[in-house]
Amino acid sequence: MKLKTILASATAVMALATGVWAEGTVGIAMPTKSSARWISDGNSMVKQFEEAGYETDLQYAEDDIPNQLAQIENMITKGVDVLVIAAIDGTTLSNALENAHYAGIKVIAYDRLIRDSEYVDYYATFDNFQVGVQQATSLVDGLKARFGEGPYNVELFGGSPDDNNAYFFYNGAMSVLQPLIDSGDVVIVSGQQGMDTVGTLRWDGAVAQSRMDNLLSAHYTDKEVHGVLSPYDGLSIGILSSLKGVGYGSGDLKMPVVTGQDAEVPSVKSMLADEQYSTIFKDTRELARVTVGMVDAVLEGGEPEINDTETYDNGMKVVPSYLLEPVAVDLSNWEGVLIDSGYYTEDQIK
Ligand code: BGC
Repeated sequence: MKLKTILASATAVMALATGVWAEGTVGIAMPTKSSARWISDGNSMVKQFEEAGYETDLQYAEDDIPNQLAQIENMITKGVDVLVIAAIDGTTLSNALENAHYAGIKVIAYDRLIRDSEYVDYYATFDNFQVGVQQATSLVDGLKARFGEGPYNVELFGGSPDDNNAYFFYNGAMSVLQPLIDSGDVVIVSGQQGMDTVGTLRWDGAVAQSRMDNLLSAHYTDKEVHGVLSPYDGLSIGILSSLKGVGYGSGDLKMPVVTGQDAEVPSVKSMLADEQYSTIFKDTRELARVTVGMVDAVLEGGEPEINDTETYDNGMKVVPSYLLEPVAVDLSNWEGVLIDSGYYTEDQIK
């Protein structure tokens, strides 16, 4: 090898090592590590962004709004090229995003819509209304399979009222359940309906558990609950421990049909133990892939892949979005969906 060639390749190696040739830096702000799904999202993004030649700065805020705001402001000060944000509270980032805009930083809303800002360039997510439809459809299928003919006694749980997704999940579910409530096939014994009443701040499983405790002691001393609409696995686990605490799932008291979302390991295990009935799988590897594509496009001035330009009005603009398809999972298909796809290994579940 000639000296010049050796020097050139040495420079190339150094440039790669020091990031001089990186495509850009991506600041990734995730809500919390308390739920495994966000850890998978973060890991998939770091892997895929790095493979595409980007540097990443991944931060988790442990569901603390000021903490997430500070992390994002810090990324702006450090001069990232793009921000990818899964917001804790979708309404608290307007000032930060204005600063990002004036610093020339592009913004992708990740999984959760960022509201009240015109400076959100794109939104990568799943079909969130469809998630709710799938949850309620699975609930109704489970009620029929486990309890035969109705009417069925059901309670409803919603997600965090500061997360735009929570309304989509709830509305999707109610598009299936409301007609059954109207016809008397489904009875909400507590009468508690509507996100104002059934929402669960910060998606907190302990909050869901204590609400379930209260529902059981106030409304079910002489009645049996047959089903619970739960929008997220972390809530489902809390709801199930409340139900088990008063004897459901043993003796004559059948376990109610409890839904979920995210296919988190404890919930897959719970399904295998005949406790949680179903969950919704959202492949975080795919969401990362879509997001990397969007970042490539915004930085290179190209057109990212978009399949929805109508649904996600954030109060300031309709954010162009890419919606992935969620998949309902229960005991009939979990292996094909979660193991054969390589999302989990058998060892993680057993
Ligand atoms: C996500 C869900 C998740 C929930 C709680 C929502 O915004 O879309 O997948 O279950 O947050 O973390």
